[in-house]
Amino acid sequence: MKVDSTRVIKQVGKVAIIVATALVAMTTVTQNSYAQAPMAKFQAPGFYRTMLGDFEVTVVSDGTALRHVDEIMSKPEKVREAYSRNGEELPTELSINTFLINTGSKLILVDTGAGELFGGGSSGRLVNNLRAAGYQPEQVDAILLTHIHGDHSGGLSVGGKRVFPNADVYVDKNDSDYWLSEEKANAAPSSKRTTFMQSRATVNPYVDAKKLKPFVGAQELFPGISSIPAYGHTPGHTAYLIGSRGKKLLLWGDVIHAGDVQFKDPDVTIAYDFDPVAAVKSRQHLFQLAATNAYLVGGAHISFPGLGHVASTSTGYEWVTAPYQIQGTL
Ligand SMILES: [Zn+2]
Repeated sequence: MKVDSTRVIKQVGKVAIIVATALVAMTTVTQNSYAQAPMAKFQAPGFYRTMLGDFEVTVVSDGTALRHVDEIMSKPEKVREAYSRNGEELPTELSINTFLINTGSKLILVDTGAGELFGGGSSGRLVNNLRAAGYQPEQVDAILLTHIHGDHSGGLSVGGKRVFPNADVYVDKNDSDYWLSEEKANAAPSSKRTTFMQSRATVNPYVDAKKLKPFVGAQELFPGISSIPAYGHTPGHTAYLIGSRGKKLLLWGDVIHAGDVQFKDPDVTIAYDFDPVAAVKSRQHLFQLAATNAYLVGGAHISFPGLGHVASTSTGYEWVTAPYQIQGTL
């Protein structure tokens, strides 16, 4: 077959021009589309769901609080070293996690975030996130407080009104006796006065409605849901063990504030501890309990959703983050 070389050269030239034009067009379109999209500047809705036996567990975020954790922990140098080694900046955003358990017959919320006490912004997002997770505050039957402190009980009431109008509030009696006492408030150092004032402002609306249910120590509060005294951080600081069909979840409140350092060194305490020595003992006890039984753990201040396991190491403990699940919610 005879080939017309002039024609071939012309055709190759044409193809080259078409390809070059297309490349220029693509480049222009790509640049334009990136430049035209404004930054979205908001975070994903703060809830995360998993099943625990027959119970549906939803971690609902109240947001975060920016904290110089090095300045409020007992060994600042150690904390700074750990954060720096892990490439993390200080101050850091501490997650505030709450846990919603649907047992099939009751809707139970563990802790309520900060409400309006931290001035909104990155915190006080519980109700919005609860709604995003498919529930309404009116549906909550019971609230279990790990302790009375602004970032755990603050979300109970806003503007003096109960946010969860149908919920009974359960808390260890040591905490309600202490934080709701006018006598203790008057005797407290000025640095603690605000906490006393905020405690009464947010918890008392439930006292007035006869919906505060103080309990003493270790109790089965609902089928499959028990309290474990973990005193120290506050007089009645409590962990809750949630169990269904042999699966267990330990919700341990404020056992950890600075995970980068406290798993390795449980002796590191926080300035807000009521009794630092007892707080260290409780931390060690719960680490051991969680590690020995391979419990799933939910931490109030471990980065959202704060679910994982405690593993023993030759020198102490370490945190193992639970894998992200989609099939586990079905
Ligand atoms: Zn806390």
